[in-house]
Amino acid sequence: MAQVSQAVSQVQRIVRAVRDVVGPSAGPQLLHGPHLAGNELTYLKECIDTAWVSMGSFVNRFEHELQKLTGAARAIATVNGTAALHLAMRLAGVEADDEVLVPSLTFVATANAVNYCHAAVHLCDIERRTLGMDPQKLNDHLSSIAVRTDGVLRNRQTQRRISAIVPMHTFGHPADLDGLCDVAGRWGLPIIEDAAESLGSEYRSRHTGSFGRLGVLSFNGNKIVTTGGGGAILTSDQALAERAEHLASTAKVAHPWEFLHDEIGYNYRMPNLNAALGCAQLEQLPEFLILKRRLAAKYIEAFEGLDDIEVLVEPAHCRSNYWLNTLILGDGALDAHDRILAALNGAKLQSRPVWRPMHELPMFAANPRMDLSATEDMARRIINVPSSAALGAEA
Ligand SMILES: *Cc1c(COP(=O)(O)O)cnc(C)c1O
Repeated sequence: MAQVSQAVSQVQRIVRAVRDVVGPSAGPQLLHGPHLAGNELTYLKECIDTAWVSMGSFVNRFEHELQKLTGAARAIATVNGTAALHLAMRLAGVEADDEVLVPSLTFVATANAVNYCHAAVHLCDIERRTLGMDPQKLNDHLSSIAVRTDGVLRNRQTQRRISAIVPMHTFGHPADLDGLCDVAGRWGLPIIEDAAESLGSEYRSRHTGSFGRLGVLSFNGNKIVTTGGGGAILTSDQALAERAEHLASTAKVAHPWEFLHDEIGYNYRMPNLNAALGCAQLEQLPEFLILKRRLAAKYIEAFEGLDDIEVLVEPAHCRSNYWLNTLILGDGALDAHDRILAALNGAKLQSRPVWRPMHELPMFAANPRMDLSATEDMARRIINVPSSAALGAEA
């Protein structure tokens, strides 16, 4: 009995701490809602008044702003982040029957994109402190399963070619990019960064998504900057950028009136309407980052006195966008995981567990993998709490 009532009060203390952060009189909270308080309507009206809704100058302007922000020489805006991932993998040379190294702890789009290339995910473990791919473990794993024959790196067990590493910056916190670039260099593999969640996040003062041969961003409605739906490919390789543009626009050869397509392409370009929204949103990103970091500080303070629970902080040498604030349950709170989620959601404070790890999903259950003990352990501990930028406003 005593234990049950103690557990109940622990759950209630957590709900109270989140309530303190969002404000006692605040209404229902989304996990992450958009903040549309700038030039969104003005720019959208310009698209409508000029009838430039599909193609148009906002796309170029949005791409230019992304280049300035990220330091990537080129940004190519796409219909969504998943399409950007698919295209980035093709451009990095992922081919049918390859294996691609992907963290098991990610949003399903990372793994799906590998399969769109008819390749297979090879699932990797994470580090507890970053929730990103563990470079040391990856290197050890490759040492035990990979073999290079005739210049091709293969999985000895499946005989398939291993063709890329796709780290993901979980909840906006940069993965260990020094470590991962090191491993990638050692094994001669390209990195494609899934930076869908980390717009505005920096690793050693350099923007995430600009370390790999290619990087991918998302501007879905729940991300820090939204275009409604949208994504982008980042690269500093001009030839890859040209190819990305070409493939994303049905591989159409430039001509004043002819329809000539020189290979099978995709219809992946971002429409002007979405880019207009994106331009207005990017103007506000510096303010969003201040609000998000202030919100994270509020969570850290609110949970300081609570036993068996921690708020995830940005890794060393990083500046995180704190896209989603993350509670990490200690051993004494593990049993309460589902009750905490029920209580927070019951109090209209939208909260979520982390994604079910990829190796636990039916379509990837039989895929090759390394030891995933950190993934499995952390998946039971994570709870994401309301993180909209507006919540970082000073009281
Ligand atoms: C949001 C997201 C994507 C891409 O999502 P879209 O909705 O297609 O823009 C990819 N990977 C991760 C980790 C994401 O969070």
